[in-house]
Amino acid sequence: MADENSVIVFYDERMLAHEPDIEVPFLPGRMDDLVRSMLLGLGDPWKYPEHPARLTAIRHLLDLEPVPGVTFESGMAATREQLGRVHTSSYLDHIFELRGQSAWLDVDTTAVSPGSVDAAEVAAGTAIAAVEAVIEGRAESSFALVRPPGHHAEPVRARGFCLFNNVAVAAAHARMALGCTRVMIVDWDAHHGNGTQDIFWSDPDVLFFDLHRAAPFYPGSGSLEEVGMGRGDGTNVNVPLPADAGDAAYLKAFREILVPAVEWFQPDLILVSAGFDPHTHDLALEVSYGGFAAMTDILKALARQHCKGRLVFVLEGGYNLISLSRGVRTVLQVLAGDVPAEPGQRGIAEVEAAADFHRGAFAGPLPD
Ligand SMILES: [Zn+2]
Repeated sequence: MADENSVIVFYDERMLAHEPDIEVPFLPGRMDDLVRSMLLGLGDPWKYPEHPARLTAIRHLLDLEPVPGVTFESGMAATREQLGRVHTSSYLDHIFELRGQSAWLDVDTTAVSPGSVDAAEVAAGTAIAAVEAVIEGRAESSFALVRPPGHHAEPVRARGFCLFNNVAVAAAHARMALGCTRVMIVDWDAHHGNGTQDIFWSDPDVLFFDLHRAAPFYPGSGSLEEVGMGRGDGTNVNVPLPADAGDAAYLKAFREILVPAVEWFQPDLILVSAGFDPHTHDLALEVSYGGFAAMTDILKALARQHCKGRLVFVLEGGYNLISLSRGVRTVLQVLAGDVPAEPGQRGIAEVEAAADFHRGAFAGPLPD
């Protein structure tokens, strides 16, 4: 069994070689010109927000302000067999043909540069490495800092910056190669994890739990009624939220839906599709650093109670570099042993003391 609060972060510079070229046309001829001129007219030149600086910003902050107890290891490339557990053979052929090229794959803003396919293999393999570390008992928890992200990638389709579904590849590996029977995936990214939902839609051994901003927000899926099918009926749980939902809503969903789901499902391993785009500085929702800390604390307690502490985070989205890197660091602090306060309660004890102190001050006559 791993030491309590031991954490390994997995990071690999090969993932920086994914650098989509924003000048490559992404729609057929005339449409591409039209969309670009429309974006330019809005004063918003087309740009690709999922860039290498997302990873280097996190790494830089963790170098500048190390979290005691956290160690680093490099990742590894996933094999075709490992990727083939969640993607079809024809899809893998199609992606591998793009090695060394620049191209647009999908109108949902997914592109490749010459180094992208290698980077995507390393992203999926690094998620696997993070799972192996906790299953082997080398760490209680781990965090795979990966890109391109994965949760929008479907069995046969790249979508929303994602090529391979990293968290799904890791979950499948845990089940097929590492002896896990049941795996839980918690997706707190602001966007619905349509790809992960698709992959495990009729699989009763993977419980997918997803909190996200409701449709029509991208990708538009993730309604309450999407609960899985066949033997997987009941192992797909969506909690769609309005745009300004924050800590209170997230934590209520964790305590009232996630906790009983974990107690019912009894997983051997908990994976987290950890996006930091629900942060209030990012684009979609209003979660604070304290909210991420409190959610991590709940997951840590659940993992200790039900699956020997085995808890693995896999990075998804997060496009504001400050809230992305600070968000990751906040999670690592809790994994390494910090006990977070309930968000929104900071200063409340001081206000209560001040209220006691001032009690009676406003009862007498007004001063002259
Ligand atoms: Zn996202």
